[in-house]
Amino acid sequence: MKVVLENLTKIFPSRNKKSGEEVVAVNNFTFTIPDGKLIGLLGPSGCGKSTTLYMISGLQKPTSGKIYFGDDDVTELATENRGIGLVFQNYALYPHMTVKQNIMFPLQNLKGEDKLTKEEMLEKAHYAAKLVQIDELMDRKPNELSGGQQQRVAIARALVKMPRVLLLDEPLSNLDARLRLQTREEIRRIQKETGITTVFVTHDQEEAMSISDMIVVMKLGVVQQIGAPQDIYDDPTNLFVAKFLGTPPINVFEGRVEDGKVYMGEDMVMEVTGVEDQQVFIGIRPEGFILDENGPLKCQLSNVEVMGRDVSIVSKHESSVNPMIRSIIDADHKLNVGSEVVRYSVKPHKFFLFNKETEERMYYEVKKNG
Ligand code: ATP
Repeated sequence: MKVVLENLTKIFPSRNKKSGEEVVAVNNFTFTIPDGKLIGLLGPSGCGKSTTLYMISGLQKPTSGKIYFGDDDVTELATENRGIGLVFQNYALYPHMTVKQNIMFPLQNLKGEDKLTKEEMLEKAHYAAKLVQIDELMDRKPNELSGGQQQRVAIARALVKMPRVLLLDEPLSNLDARLRLQTREEIRRIQKETGITTVFVTHDQEEAMSISDMIVVMKLGVVQQIGAPQDIYDDPTNLFVAKFLGTPPINVFEGRVEDGKVYMGEDMVMEVTGVEDQQVFIGIRPEGFILDENGPLKCQLSNVEVMGRDVSIVSKHESSVNPMIRSIIDADHKLNVGSEVVRYSVKPHKFFLFNKETEERMYYEVKKNG
């Protein structure tokens, strides 16, 4: 089922009528979520991702704009009539019910021709429990389960009616690191197996990148970029997106373009065409540095961290916006750790220029690798 968001906007009125300002939580969001895909809504706290999800679910009404499931306009439809499955960060299971009863719960209120017999309910509950691999735990109560198991029960409960759309709001936040990894792979598997169009809200870029077919990066209610995770990483539209995706994060420098040459301090690091002389922000991904004893970028070596396959080199440069620069180099490359200086050349496709005022990405041709 494709989900169409059309000029979706949510404005919360000010709490304090005299001085407070209204909050534009989601601003004119237009996007068609393709059928059967998993979409990650990503952004820092307060960017409007939960509000977007709540509008899709019907828990919140848009101030303006439309929502369609397939060709059905569901904008005014109550949550319970939308055919959605919802999973929240806190699993919200009924503590006095067993796993089986929790999963079956949404089926018990079905009326009219949708009404199910006890056997049909049990069959559906078992099917959903099997999908999330908790069918062995059906007679336990929630307090006899681990956090990861409880979250799987919540997912099974959301799946039991085979929703048209599955909505997940930070479903992994309460899990420890190992379980988080495992459960996110589970979610991906379940989503692929069922083919249910899924929207997944998270502030964790790694989580979003790893399981989503597409991600939507939001900031202050405004969509910044939509695309496949790798495409956004390789081709960020502005400095915010470039900084938000990637661990370790992109290295940001203040620099300038003069006569087609990009300078960081005194170091001329790249020659480009199509950019006028101006001050710029420069972004270099950690994997964009090449150890090169004749390289144009001269940094003060601070520290070398061995990570096995790779080495992380921590250094400083006068034009760096952050105190430290972090590069990731293949461990096969030998570095003279006694030296005070480390010199790099830069991979052009890992090197980005941003307008100093707007922070929008600037496009150019690389003349030659400086
Ligand atoms: P988080 O990751 O912290 O949950 P989020 O990206 O999901 O953040 P939202 O919860 O969608 O962000 O909130 C977006 C903006 O709308 C925030 O500025 C928030 O304070 C505001 N907001 C959310 N709900 C309400 C509400 N019921 N009344 C007023 N303002 C609200």
